[in-house]
Amino acid sequence: MADVNWNRYPEVHAEELCAAIARHEQWPASGVVATSGSNVLISLLVQLVGQSRTVLTVKPNFALYALAAQLLGSEVLEVPLLESFVMDVDRFADAMKRTASKGGLIYLARPHAPTGTLLRNDHLQYILNCSDNWIVVIDEAYHHFSGVDAKRFASANDNVVILRTLSKAWGLAGLRLGYALCSNVIAANLRKLSAPFGISTLQSIVAQAALSNSQYMYDRVRIVVEQRDRVYSALQAHPTWKTFPSHGNFLLIRTPDAAAAHARLLALGLLVRRQDSYYGLSGCIRVTIGAARENDDFLTAARS
Ligand SMILES: *Cc1c(COP(=O)(O)O)cnc(C)c1O
Repeated sequence: MADVNWNRYPEVHAEELCAAIARHEQWPASGVVATSGSNVLISLLVQLVGQSRTVLTVKPNFALYALAAQLLGSEVLEVPLLESFVMDVDRFADAMKRTASKGGLIYLARPHAPTGTLLRNDHLQYILNCSDNWIVVIDEAYHHFSGVDAKRFASANDNVVILRTLSKAWGLAGLRLGYALCSNVIAANLRKLSAPFGISTLQSIVAQAALSNSQYMYDRVRIVVEQRDRVYSALQAHPTWKTFPSHGNFLLIRTPDAAAAHARLLALGLLVRRQDSYYGLSGCIRVTIGAARENDDFLTAARS
């Protein structure tokens, strides 16, 4: 940082950072777009392909997809997940075919938030097989915790966009850095829509430092996954809570009363997220996996 000319503007579209991301991801630099958090890309993609068209997704889901779509006047279609929180692919493909003439944007979080399920490869392929008039966005905010990703689907299909972020596995939510991996054409158009100088020199330097020391991230992920599985197993003995298996860094738990569970945990110094206002998630709270001691505190509180 001492070597930087801070009086100068950064690069227009963070080219140096995008090259570093490209190296890390083994993806062509021309197909990388960086923004201040992947939230920004969620809106830019609606502007690019979904505005006054259809934005198709599932429910429950990460709230920002529908919010961005509604703000820009797109029609939002949400196909309910099955009771096990996996996608109803036949119903989803039907919705795609019914609205194919208009087409637009499909948002898939993989792993899914807030339930932690993972869309199967064959289901993803099935959706891509009927995606002619659609851009399919696969939000991989949590992919490190699942051990799988959809890059090969994006390499094979020009209409697939992968979203990634430094906010979760890298532990850098405060930095605000997300990026898209996609075709050159979509990347070029996303760059036109994104703000010039949108990534500060500070963001670029910190992100490059992280990317060139990626081992810390992989170490963290391994620990979080171990802790997640430990907390999940321990919670199976809970007399009234049902904890769902998760491919993310969080667990979704159905309690008899989300408001009471949230308030009681808060009184014990533990902040979880209520999810009971989401479609199909009555009684649910979500807990993010923390350090071992924080998880112990959570388990003790859960038992009480
Ligand atoms: C956290 C999260 C993001 C990342 O948002 P940033 O703006 O990059 O911090 C994107 N999608 C989902 C589903 C998330 O949970």
